[in-house]
Amino acid sequence: MASATAAAGAGASPVRLRPFKRVAVVGGTHGNETTGVYALRRFQKHPELLARDGIDVEYCLANPKAVREVRRFVDDDLNRQYSMARLRDDSLESYESVRAKLIEQRFGPKDSDRPHADFLVDMHTTTSRMGITMIFESQGVDPAALYVAKEVRRMLAGRTSAPVFILFADLERDGIPHTPSIARSGVAIEVGPVAQGLLRSDACEWMEQAALAVMDAIARLNTGEATASEAEAVPVFQNSRVKVPCPAGEDGSPLAVFHERLQDGDYRPLRKGDPIFRGLDGEVIEYDGRLGDTVFPVFVNEAAYYLPESGLGFALCHHATLPLPPIVTAEDGAARLSLPVPPADDAEAVAAAIEASDPWEAAKAAAATA
Ligand SMILES: [Zn+2]
Repeated sequence: MASATAAAGAGASPVRLRPFKRVAVVGGTHGNETTGVYALRRFQKHPELLARDGIDVEYCLANPKAVREVRRFVDDDLNRQYSMARLRDDSLESYESVRAKLIEQRFGPKDSDRPHADFLVDMHTTTSRMGITMIFESQGVDPAALYVAKEVRRMLAGRTSAPVFILFADLERDGIPHTPSIARSGVAIEVGPVAQGLLRSDACEWMEQAALAVMDAIARLNTGEATASEAEAVPVFQNSRVKVPCPAGEDGSPLAVFHERLQDGDYRPLRKGDPIFRGLDGEVIEYDGRLGDTVFPVFVNEAAYYLPESGLGFALCHHATLPLPPIVTAEDGAARLSLPVPPADDAEAVAAAIEASDPWEAAKAAAATA
């Protein structure tokens, strides 16, 4: 990681982006992820929480019907509807495909350099032990989203009982099926573990603190405070989108459970030959090395990923160190930028560092003394 720091260090010229004046705050994209719905209600009742100078905040309860029914979705997964192809396909008439088009009309257009929302925050929960995960997906590296994600991690260090992780995916922009892709830039906040349909004070606190920090980071971008910062190297997990589904029968029912060594093992090293599932006959199924000898799993035993509509299985990540140049905001700046993605870090070196200190223990200890 030292070489990446040097590469991104002094001398990197600033990038210019348009200011972020309209921020969309979205909850209830998944109707059974009640933490985001509760956060949305709280922010609407107490607008002072997210109010920042020069920024208009707009709120959206994305899937009211699924929220009422405490279900992930009614007809189809809303957070799989935002690819350009699906948004422009008039033959799609499911409740969620219609909702996606309405939400994109409000905050997009996605295929525009001047969508209504400059930044979109989508609030989710997971049953996986992913702490506070700041997810951003972009074609190449979106420096605004990377800045916001790393600022959330910096601001919350020592303040929350869960660690903050950054999860990045490099995806062709038109094909991204997720809500933040309809705005100029955006992030999803994913907190867990928390059960579907359940409100827990710790998860609510993680969500609120992360959302407040997102707003602080955007405000700092706009006021130019970010311009003073030196270029940085930001360690992230990079989602390969390679998923490993649980063995299932013809009717889709699972024929194995997550192995106890992998359960709660999000962001922990997973090596070729490590156990991942235990089958009906007690047999152990091992990681086959399909993405490399050492990888980092996420969405381990996410309850929604037993549903084919949402994509079966847990996902495998590499680890990468992304260069983040200083950012200047100006009216004549770019709508969005796409910076090159560096090669993945040496997985074994990262694994050794992760095994040397448990980020959950560190977060809890720091929060307890704060
Ligand atoms: Zn969700």
